Amino acid sequence: MTQLALQRSDFATLRESQPFETLSSYLAAWRGYSGVSSRSFLNQVAQLAPAASVALMVDPDHPIDDCWLEVVAEVTQIEKSTLEELAAPLGPWTLHPPCRHYACIACLDEAGSASQQARLKLWTYATFTTCIFHDLPLIEVPAIGWEWMELSPAQRKSNARLMLEPDKLRPNVEAFWNRLDGRLRVGIHRAEVSAWVAPGGPCRLRTAIQYERLDEAPVWQAILALLSRSWERHPAPALAARGLPRDLWINSSKQYFGDYHRPVLEALPTIDYFRGISAVNERRACVLVASDAVRHEYMRPFLGFNDFYGWRGVLGRMPQPAFEWLVLQSNDWPPHWQNRVKSWKRSRK
Ligand SMILES: [Zn+2]
Repeated sequence: MTQLALQRSDFATLRESQPFETLSSYLAAWRGYSGVSSRSFLNQVAQLAPAASVALMVDPDHPIDDCWLEVVAEVTQIEKSTLEELAAPLGPWTLHPPCRHYACIACLDEAGSASQQARLKLWTYATFTTCIFHDLPLIEVPAIGWEWMELSPAQRKSNARLMLEPDKLRPNVEAFWNRLDGRLRVGIHRAEVSAWVAPGGPCRLRTAIQYERLDEAPVWQAILALLSRSWERHPAPALAARGLPRDLWINSSKQYFGDYHRPVLEALPTIDYFRGISAVNERRACVLVASDAVRHEYMRPFLGFNDFYGWRGVLGRMPQPAFEWLVLQSNDWPPHWQNRVKSWKRSRK
C-alpha cells in the first residue's frame, strides 16, 4: 500500500462487512462512509435509546443492552441480520474492550487500502495471539480503517508508517517470528485453533468440527486461569513459563512469551483475569501449555521434543495451593475429566 493518507472520499461506497469482522470496525467504516463522527453517532443512538449508547460505549463489539440492535439498525440503515452477525462473539473468552488493539500486519497489508481494513474478531479473542491465516504474531496497532481518521493528528503522525504502509513492516514481523523454533510456531498455531474450537458459542466453523468433544470448556477455562498466574508471593513468571523449553525459560524470550515478572495477586484466579491480559505474548505460553494439558495426545506430535516440558513440567513444579485450587475447580467437570485430575495428582507424588 502506497497511499499516505486516508480520505473521506475513500468511503464513497460502504464496503461489505468482512467474515469475522468486529461490530466496532464495521460501524467505523459506516461512519467514514456517512461522514458522521463517533460522538455524533453515539448521540444519535442516545436520542433513541440512552441505554443502547451506554452499551456501545461499554463494549463496542458485543453490546449487552437488548435495544441496541433496533436502534443501530435505524440510525445506520444496516441490515439487522448483518449487525447481529457482527456482534456475535466467537466464544466465551473475548478480550476485555481496552485490550482489543492488536492486528495481523499481513491481513492489513492484503486489505489493499486503509479503507478496506477490517478488525477481525479473531484478533480480539483471548486465546489467539497469532493470525491463523498467515501464522504471524499479532502486533499492537492504534486503530484500523476509518478509526485511524478518528485519532488525534499527533497519534496519526507517530503511527503513520505502521498503519498506512504495513507492507514495509511485514518483513520485519516475519523475520521476528521465523527466529522462533519452528516446532514451537507450529505448536502455537495448533494450540490456538484447538483452544478456540473447544468451547460452545456461535462460530462458522462449528458445523465443520462437530467431532470435537464439547465438554472441555470448563477445563480450558480453569487451566488458562491457573497458568496465567505466578502463584508466588513475589514477582515471578506465570506458571505457564515452567512448561517452556529451558532456554526460553532462562533467556530473553520476553518478546515471544511475555514478561517473566508477573505481579503478586492475592485474589484467586478467574478467566476474567486472563481475558484482561492485553499483551499477546503474555497469553501465548498459557494457551500453548493449556492445550498440552487438555489435548495432550493431539499436541504431542508437535510438541514432543525433549526440552519442551509442557503441562507435565508445570504439574511437577506447581505450588501446592495452585494444585489444590485446580482440584476444587474440577468438582464441576465431567467425570472423565475428574479421572484425569486424579492421574495428575498421582504424577505429582
Ligand atoms: Zn493475517
